Amino acid sequence: MSRFDVDLFVIGGGSGGVRAARVAATHGARVAVAEESKWGGTCVVRGCVPKKLMVYASAVRWDLDDARGQGWMIPPGSFDWLTFITAKDKEIARLSAAYAGALTRAGARLYESRAVLLDPHTVEVGGTRVTAANILIATGGTPKKPATGEWITSDDAFHLPALPERIAILGAGYIAIEFAHIFAGFGSRVTLVHRSPQILRGFDPDIVSEVHKGLVAHGIETHHAPTVPPDSGLAMSAIGRAPNIDGLGLDAVGVTLAAHGGIAVDEWSRTSVPDIYAVGDVTARVALTPVAIREGHALADTLFGRRPTPMHYDKIPTAVFSQPPAAAVGLTQPAAEALGHELRIFKARFRPMKHALAGRDEHVMIKLVVDAKTDRVLGLHMVGLDAPEIVQAAAIAISMHATKADFDRTFALHPTIAEELVTLRG
Ligand code: FAD
Ligand code: NDP
Repeated sequence: MSRFDVDLFVIGGGSGGVRAARVAATHGARVAVAEESKWGGTCVVRGCVPKKLMVYASAVRWDLDDARGQGWMIPPGSFDWLTFITAKDKEIARLSAAYAGALTRAGARLYESRAVLLDPHTVEVGGTRVTAANILIATGGTPKKPATGEWITSDDAFHLPALPERIAILGAGYIAIEFAHIFAGFGSRVTLVHRSPQILRGFDPDIVSEVHKGLVAHGIETHHAPTVPPDSGLAMSAIGRAPNIDGLGLDAVGVTLAAHGGIAVDEWSRTSVPDIYAVGDVTARVALTPVAIREGHALADTLFGRRPTPMHYDKIPTAVFSQPPAAAVGLTQPAAEALGHELRIFKARFRPMKHALAGRDEHVMIKLVVDAKTDRVLGLHMVGLDAPEIVQAAAIAISMHATKADFDRTFALHPTIAEELVTLRG
């Protein structure tokens, strides 16, 4: 019999924590999880899911324009913010309850309160002390704001009492670009303020220029400036996220931080303190839900599933849900060049058939970055209708080290946008 109350105590009921807890419990471990807010964490409650619901709802504006061009007699309509928010909140509550239910069914003990570390094997949660053989910190992150001024963040954007007439968004990363389109689609006047000359730092230059065209096409003003101009409406900060570590007791137990401010971990998600682990955004490795989930799953398999699973971060697909969306997997052209690859670049830009009748000025851009010597496809970069869906499927082939010849050998499925992947010629 263990001298500890549980085999694993998970702090944080978000993407990484829930997966680790559920899988560990399934492997037979005695698991407890604490969540101070709502089960499901950022992704489910104030991130990917409500954001995507907003993207779908706001894009209807442009779909209606298309429909009119296709012969549908649709009178001018209007968007009701509160109707949307109510429906969205109902769906989020359903999902959050499903996460709690899945944990309970797996046999985990749930604490609906804040947890802090007291020592390497003790957590204080809701006024009680729980001892654990292993502790997992999966507390996620919090939006950053400039030091001065009145700002809302993405957390607030999901609960505004009314749709803002004008909004200025500081930042040019995922959140800024996605919310600029969301608010523009709903009818707000939007200004995007970026401090660097270019938006979406780190993405392939062809994605950057295509997404920029999308912003312009949707009437979003872009300013290259250090902060938002005065009198530009509601000010939203989208300048990155900080790991949630304040008051957790990390100093007391000796958990150290990496240079970027996240909890320092190795490929096994081990912190500097034996038996204390960390996964997800709190480690500031790659702040994406599937990565947090993979890290949590790998840890549970390693500790309790007799399946040691180190993490690797190769070929993670990612999407920016701009309108049209952008998606990518693998190396960008500049990154591949910097690594010394001799490259062949295959690129196409065209107007998708869906927009032909309505005349919507929106294009698809597809780009393959191919190693000239091995013929391996090193990267795929795409902007346009269904880009995230297409890139997710193509990521399987690229992860299996497919060559351009493998793409070329594949029959096209016609007429689709994705067929361009197998018909690109130099
Ligand atoms: P979280 O999901 O943040 O979970 C941490 C949990 O810990 C939270 O519920 C928090 O309340 C809880 N907690 C914190 N401290 C304590 C404590 N002391 N005690 C108890 N509980 C505590 N990623 C994608 O892959 N695709 C997307 O489309 C996408 N869209 C996003 C949109 C937005 C607006 C944002 C903000 C993020 C988005 N992300 C997206 C990123 C994604 O949400 C995160 O990478 C993911 O949620 C990280 O999971 P996590 O488990 O590390 O942390
Ligand atoms: P990002 O890191 O993506 O972008 C931050 C942006 O803010 C950059 O444009 C950066 O500019 C700018 N910035 C940083 N500091 C300042 C400052 N002090 N003043 C002005 N501008 C500043 O962060 P986000 O907040 O957009 O998103 C956080 C993370 O959440 C993302 O990195 C991603 O991992 C995840 N996420 C994923 C989504 C998805 O998968 N679709 C959607 C939303 C979030 P510069 O380039 O100059 O540094």
